[in-house]
Amino acid sequence: MADAVVVGSGPNGLAAAVILARAGLEVEVYEAADRIGGGCRTGEVTLPGFKHDLCAGAHPMAVASPFFRAFDLAAHGVELLTPQVSYAHPLDGGRAALAWRDLEHTVDGLGRDGRAWQRLFGPLVRRWEDLVDLIMSDMRHPPVEPVGVLLGARMAELSTPLWNARFREDLAPALLTGVAAHAIRPPRSAPGAGVSLLLGTLAHAGGWPVPRGGSQVIVDALAEDLTRHGGRIITGHRVDDLGEFGSAAAVLLDTAPAELQRVAGERLSGGYAYALDKFRYGGAACKVDFALSGPVPWQARGCERAGTLHLAGSRAEIVAAEKAVAAGRHAERPYVLAIQPGVVDSTRAPAGKHTFYTYAHVPNGSTDDLTETITAQVERFAPGFRDLVLATNVRTAATMPAHNANYIGGDISAGAMTLRQTLFRPAPRWNPYRTPLPGVYLCSAATPPGPGVHAMNGLHAAHHALRREFGIRTHPLDLLRA
Ligand SMILES: Cc1cc2nc3c(=O)[nH]c(=O)nc-3n(C[C@H](O)[C@H](O)[C@H](O)COP(=O)(O)OP(=O)(O)OC[C@H]3O[C@@H](n4cnc5c(N)ncnc54)[C@H](O)[C@@H]3O)c2cc1C
Repeated sequence: MADAVVVGSGPNGLAAAVILARAGLEVEVYEAADRIGGGCRTGEVTLPGFKHDLCAGAHPMAVASPFFRAFDLAAHGVELLTPQVSYAHPLDGGRAALAWRDLEHTVDGLGRDGRAWQRLFGPLVRRWEDLVDLIMSDMRHPPVEPVGVLLGARMAELSTPLWNARFREDLAPALLTGVAAHAIRPPRSAPGAGVSLLLGTLAHAGGWPVPRGGSQVIVDALAEDLTRHGGRIITGHRVDDLGEFGSAAAVLLDTAPAELQRVAGERLSGGYAYALDKFRYGGAACKVDFALSGPVPWQARGCERAGTLHLAGSRAEIVAAEKAVAAGRHAERPYVLAIQPGVVDSTRAPAGKHTFYTYAHVPNGSTDDLTETITAQVERFAPGFRDLVLATNVRTAATMPAHNANYIGGDISAGAMTLRQTLFRPAPRWNPYRTPLPGVYLCSAATPPGPGVHAMNGLHAAHHALRREFGIRTHPLDLLRA
């Protein structure tokens, strides 16, 4: 039996495995699906030759994360292609707010609110590495650095009725709220503010790239590094009982807390089991992928240069839509997130054709197929879109767990991003990665710093396991740089 076992081959599971293997341990990864990658897979789900990202599609966090900066994706053959416009937010009437990678260019396009955008993001963009180190930490230290104070002040502002005080027009508030909604929480909330400030800052720092060939190349690079360091990956093996790994000194679970409970069974009890029972799964996504015969005919200029688009209308409309989802209802015109990788990556579809990635926010467990609703929301900002559709593929929130057990009820964050669950994931403990079971750790997005392809949950969990179970004190970032 291996020294260390990892259950799940998402970016966090593979990141943990890479660190453990680079520390000289014998590592095995068990993956339930037939293919590695979890929420970072790419597949031809519409027509042959059309490569769709099945979950994660845009990668501001992969480009910024301390794990990936040390691992060096480029050195592993991953090419991150960065659109000029990180994200766009079209409004009715053919207008759009554009978050260019260049902050000054963005400011110029936001009319009377340009300077306010500059004052909001400028200081954070200048300190983006400190900001990332803080937000992607294991959340066990108070944010005392200057960037922590700055972030705290901004979050306090954006999560209270003051959130509109900076702005006088409608473009900038819509642009900001569209990013806040990534949290699938009411946008005027501390988690919404945190998400908008992190992703909004990265838009003007490293940008929001897409990998050439699809997100799969990121996890493939991790897997290749793992096997090069002696690790083994076993696919098509869903772990049902922790007893399978009796003699491994460490077991790291890249799973949702509910899966930890399932595989641990009676072994988990007391306060920790109670806390996992109380762990909440949140708003969900209905994912629809389109194969298109041409590029999306956006009405507003600049949208054709954007990698990501938030199709959701005004700030008030987004707030109402997210409120409905939080209350367990479908919004009539839901928040739709779209990615058009073809803007920078011509390898995703046959010549002249395009893939188009969308998901809409829906209540947890929704069985509704939102293909028509999403098509209408795109058509609203891009008349003629419907005529380009060659084929579609839908994954409802209810069917999401069959694809990946971590997305309970279609919750793509592996646990609602409430303030409590952002700070204390999955339970209020000094060390959120350790479970009460000897040698058993959680390393998934259900731990700090939460969801996204940044691999930092895996790094932090592996760091603790290395020190505690194996007495290895080399920092994971040094192992990655070696
Ligand atoms: C629709 C969607 C869109 C997203 N968009 C983005 C985006 O654009 N950018 C971004 O950064 N992030 C995005 N995310 C989030 C991102 O994909 C996840 O946060 C990230 O993949 C989490 O990584 P992970 O390793 O924690 O878990 P996952 O990637 O979910 O991997 C967990 C793995 O564990 C396996 N597993 C679970 N239980 C068992 C078991 N018992 N036995 C064996 N294997 C098991 C699963 O099969 C899965 O492969 C998106 C997610 C979804 C679903």
